[in-house]
Amino acid sequence: MDAENKSDKQSAPSRGQGRRAPRVRAILLLVLVAASIFVVMRQGLLPARWSPLPALDLSVPNAWFVDWRIAELKRDRELCTRVLRGPVISASPVRDNPIKDGCGWENAMRISSAGGASLSVGTVSCEVAAGIAMWMAHEVQPRAVEIFGSRVTSVQHMGTYACRNVLGRKMWTDVRSEHATANALDISAFTLASGRQISVVRHWSGSGAEARFLREIHSAACRYFRVAIGPEFNALHRDHFHYDRGFLSRCK
Ligand SMILES: [Zn+2]
Repeated sequence: MDAENKSDKQSAPSRGQGRRAPRVRAILLLVLVAASIFVVMRQGLLPARWSPLPALDLSVPNAWFVDWRIAELKRDRELCTRVLRGPVISASPVRDNPIKDGCGWENAMRISSAGGASLSVGTVSCEVAAGIAMWMAHEVQPRAVEIFGSRVTSVQHMGTYACRNVLGRKMWTDVRSEHATANALDISAFTLASGRQISVVRHWSGSGAEARFLREIHSAACRYFRVAIGPEFNALHRDHFHYDRGFLSRCK
């Protein structure tokens, strides 16, 4: 009897474990599927024609899944030229410069205006061009009108493509910058229709309307870019906002 009881006690947990095992496997499988969907969508690996999401419309504010929908433009030249059109952006395709030793570009655009403001950029990735257009149209212009009663007429920048590694922290200096594939843009200043000039280096640290404007638009940029860093990040960014669509995520 004692022996029977003992054997019952031993077999009960093993039956429980037997029932739990398929449930654990199902959960693990679900997590794996969700993680795969996340990576595929985030990296723009799914051809747009198979995507469950509608193609990006630059003119629509507060678009859902905007990060994944911008990512769909990464490898799709046809979709890029279809999406990047007026009036939100004036852009034209740039011939590919196949990536060698971590430098070059593919599916890049030349920009002459974004969000109704003049912005002259020679070569920038399609993703960054889309991000800049949406940021200008839905964040920068509304805040300029709200704070200054005047629209932005031109945007100054400090460059896009540069075949170089990440600057700054030692742990990153062996890694190519997103600038090396024209997948980043450094914004330095804005000019309003009223003639007022607002620059990151002069106004970021102040307490006036210019500082409020810069802080609000910079914070909003995180919606469209994976990395959106400025003067608070480090001294190298004291005079510009760096916006890119790389793999990493960082907003500061
Ligand atoms: Zn930069």
